[in-house]
Amino acid sequence: MPELIWFEWEKCPDGYTIEILEPEFLGVRDERKILSGSSASERAPAWVHKLFQHENFNVYETYFVAKSDRVLRFRPLEGADAAFMELSECWESDSNILQFVDNYGLLLTFPSYKRVADDWSVDEFHEVAGSMTDAVESWQEAKRTGDFDGLIHAFNTSNMFEDPDPETDEEGPPVAALQLQLRRPTGGTGLPILSVVLEDLKSALWLQFAQAVSSSTQLRRCAVCPTWFVYGTGTGRRKSAHYCSDRCRKAAHRRQKSTKTSD
Ligand SMILES: [Zn+2]
Repeated sequence: MPELIWFEWEKCPDGYTIEILEPEFLGVRDERKILSGSSASERAPAWVHKLFQHENFNVYETYFVAKSDRVLRFRPLEGADAAFMELSECWESDSNILQFVDNYGLLLTFPSYKRVADDWSVDEFHEVAGSMTDAVESWQEAKRTGDFDGLIHAFNTSNMFEDPDPETDEEGPPVAALQLQLRRPTGGTGLPILSVVLEDLKSALWLQFAQAVSSSTQLRRCAVCPTWFVYGTGTGRRKSAHYCSDRCRKAAHRRQKSTKTSD
């Protein structure tokens, strides 16, 4: 079935910065008094005013702020079969997080769909990326021991990746949000195409993770950039591939040449 999985997303093509929500932006001196009921002060920058246009938002310390109002609609996972590995590796440094977000967009919402203000929070991003790190670690462990039971249970209940509430022992929400859709074929004529449409980037990345876990394809990190890629039979990449793309291969060769000539 061609193109069963369909995922389109949006991002600001000019990139993002990480900004701190200073107490003075909220017109309060005491940080403990920051509540959703407070309002943006005159000194607050435009992005804080935007935040207050939401009826509900939680107050976090740091936020992603788009560098412009421009919006790019795109398919972020085309040619990026293992973007979930990049998510699992990026969260320890702000510059790596920004590289991820500039590349793929925010995890839960996009510029023209501003329902989930919490998604602008860097702290929430850390939470999701940390869960992915745990998941990848338990996958490596399962591959080593051959015992996938723990991983299967954790994935199906999300309770390894998003801690259950200790009081109620409730299991986490489903890992992915998706819909079935019939789409028009390319060109507009012919039979409709059945698609599983992923509703947000976080869901799409969990799907990628599950696909990787359940297939025998191998993953490798590009020798030049942070991109992970699949290789081996049926992937179009040889077992000996070191680079994610022609661009990175050429960059590596140029680098080799210049070190040779400078010797
Ligand atoms: Zn690369």
